[in-house]
Amino acid sequence: IPDVTLTELLFSGEPSGAPALIDPEGRITTRRELDESVRRIAAGLHGRGIGRGSVVGLFAPNSPEWVAAFHGILRANAVVTSANVLYTADELAHQLADSGARLLVTTADLLDVAETAAAKAGIEEVLTLDDAPGRPRLDTLPGGEPPPLVTGPGDIAVLPYSSGTTGRAKGVVLTHRNLVANVLQFSRMGRTAPSTVLLAVLPLFHIYGMTVLMNHALHQRVPLVTMPRFDLAGMLRLIERHRVTKLYLAPPTALLLAKSPLVDGADLSSVELVFSGAAPLDGELARAVANRLDCKILQGYGMTEMSPVSHAIPEDRPDIDPASVGYALPNVECRLVDSAGRDADRGELWVRGPNVMTGYLNNPAATAATLDADGWLHTGDIATVTADGVFTIVDRVKELIKYKGYQVPPAELEALLLTHEGIDDAAVVGVPDEEGEEIPKAFVVRRPGARLDAAEVMGYVAARVSPHKKVRRVEFLDSIPKSASGKILRAVLRRRPAMQEV
Ligand code: ATP
Ligand code: MG
Repeated sequence: IPDVTLTELLFSGEPSGAPALIDPEGRITTRRELDESVRRIAAGLHGRGIGRGSVVGLFAPNSPEWVAAFHGILRANAVVTSANVLYTADELAHQLADSGARLLVTTADLLDVAETAAAKAGIEEVLTLDDAPGRPRLDTLPGGEPPPLVTGPGDIAVLPYSSGTTGRAKGVVLTHRNLVANVLQFSRMGRTAPSTVLLAVLPLFHIYGMTVLMNHALHQRVPLVTMPRFDLAGMLRLIERHRVTKLYLAPPTALLLAKSPLVDGADLSSVELVFSGAAPLDGELARAVANRLDCKILQGYGMTEMSPVSHAIPEDRPDIDPASVGYALPNVECRLVDSAGRDADRGELWVRGPNVMTGYLNNPAATAATLDADGWLHTGDIATVTADGVFTIVDRVKELIKYKGYQVPPAELEALLLTHEGIDDAAVVGVPDEEGEEIPKAFVVRRPGARLDAAEVMGYVAARVSPHKKVRRVEFLDSIPKSASGKILRAVLRRRPAMQEV
């Protein structure tokens, strides 16, 4: 792995006139135009006193301007903290204050939330990527030449926040070296061709989209089509129009590809690969997607703390079970550690490698609990591994339901529920019963028109699992709450007052 910054890795050499970014209206940004924007933004930020170690917040949906802003901030020797566009002003203010951001970059649409948060967090100035009355645009700030690059590979590049699935989102410190390592490690698992076209369905503010879509596409010099927000019909249109060849996504989108009637009307013949990460992908669902789209389906695994990918099924190994997450990436060391602290073939996954964070921001206790003295990151996820080194993620340690001393992985029950014809989506959490003992409860979204009651749901599961894994309560919902990065918000489900519970 070369010892360079992300800016040097991606922006060295003479830029070409090839398309780098394409917006939903079909507007093309060439590599040369991107390069010019990055330099102009860096010069403007430099003029505002932003330099090595300054933190700039980026709070905007996916767009070519988002990409230029991200790399412009790095080119100004500064640090990006990218925020979830679904955040409330309070959540955003927390991230901005915690990360020490000085400026905030947003869009006209998000200006209300952005300004409220900026005021709370003591931000100096709010800038926009598009036109907003009375607000300076990031890409037209006065400035001459960009400043010299003085950041080194060991400097902080980004402060992304974890998804907040298991508690408050944590700021993660990632250096240029971390990001460079992961782009190169991930690119070794794939194969790009001159015809490759990627689609940014995933949000770029989350580390998955940031590395696997944005930086990967820039590194491989293939075009990236940006989508500002997810909608299935819009995604299908963009795939058709731009002949997208690879779809990197999270399981909720895979679920739609497998089940939505809209897919029948779309020409998805250009899609060669669907790659799922960020949450468990069920094997049957994976096969349904592959059959319906007539393409390969592969899975990967990662977390914000690993920049993010540590495991993936290589593109030339579609024979590997898509319910697994494949091999450890090059230079990634792994251990599986059981509850007694012994190495085992099933246990908590520990990872060590150049893509692993240096620690959490302003949170030494969380860092000490996650990164040990020998550099092993304790992922909090349980995995198994075969003799050939193929890993499967079982579930999160924290989400295992403890039923009468047995461990019940909710992900397994969710996958099983999704195989039922009358079920469109499902989530399982542990809830206390009358005696305060934890029991598995299923939240189920009925397929429209399906006649399905709780007894049918419980019976379906009971016929297919050992007795301790039975679902013992069922509640029907219109949709399962999920995060922007595609994870089931179990904490939200646990907190819900029971409605039509059976
Ligand atoms: P927080 O740490 O704030 O609670 P989070 O862990 O959900 O949130 P991310 O860093 O976005 O935040 O997600 C990493 C987690 O996502 C992993 O620890 C793992 O539990 C889950 N995950 C990622 N990929 C997969 C996968 N392929 N299969 C199962 N789980 C996955
Ligand atoms: Mg986490």
